[in-house]
Amino acid sequence: MKKRLIVATRNAHKVQEIAAMLPPDYEVHSLADYPAAPEVEETATTFAGNAALKACGISAMLPGMVLADDSGLCVDAQGGAPGVMSARYAGEHGNDAANNARLLRELAALPQPHTARFMCCMCVAEGGRVLAEFTGKVEGTITSTPAGEHGFGYDPLFVPTGYDCTMAQLSAEQKNAISHRADALQQFLAWTKGR
Ligand code: IMP
Repeated sequence: MKKRLIVATRNAHKVQEIAAMLPPDYEVHSLADYPAAPEVEETATTFAGNAALKACGISAMLPGMVLADDSGLCVDAQGGAPGVMSARYAGEHGNDAANNARLLRELAALPQPHTARFMCCMCVAEGGRVLAEFTGKVEGTITSTPAGEHGFGYDPLFVPTGYDCTMAQLSAEQKNAISHRADALQQFLAWTKGR
């Protein structure tokens, strides 16, 4: 029998990446399948806090195991920003072009390299209660010349450590082998095996 998992997001890119990384015995749903599911406000100041809000909020309304991903980019020269504000850094939620433009503007006058990391906190909940939490990350730098068409968000700006191209220049398979989301999801899969 398939293992049913609801991913508590309306971000199609996130669901696509998570679904592609899960073994074939998973049946993945997202909030696109539940249009009436509530919009959970991300009011916490940490990735872990927001992931728990989303996982608990949705699993209180929908049956079965719910996985929430709260993720973002942390730039050292910006004191960890955009951080939990990554999706709405330029004001409008999910405007990747505006978010990237703001970050490039802010970093332009600062000395290179602009060290940074993508962070991903995943929270698994059922019946409104947290079952487990996992944190993944990938280190890199921010380039001043965006490149690449793949991925989403800040991928065109992020050069993973050990690579000479941006995350957006990697194929989906290459990104899924090194990403913060892959790191957290591997921990989730190890946890489910031990249950
Ligand atoms: P969340 O939906 O509140 O977790 O916000 C996630 C935001 O962080 C996205 O809208 C992107 O701006 C950024 N982000 C998270 N993961 C990635 C990634 O894998 N690549 C590029 N940007 C990402």
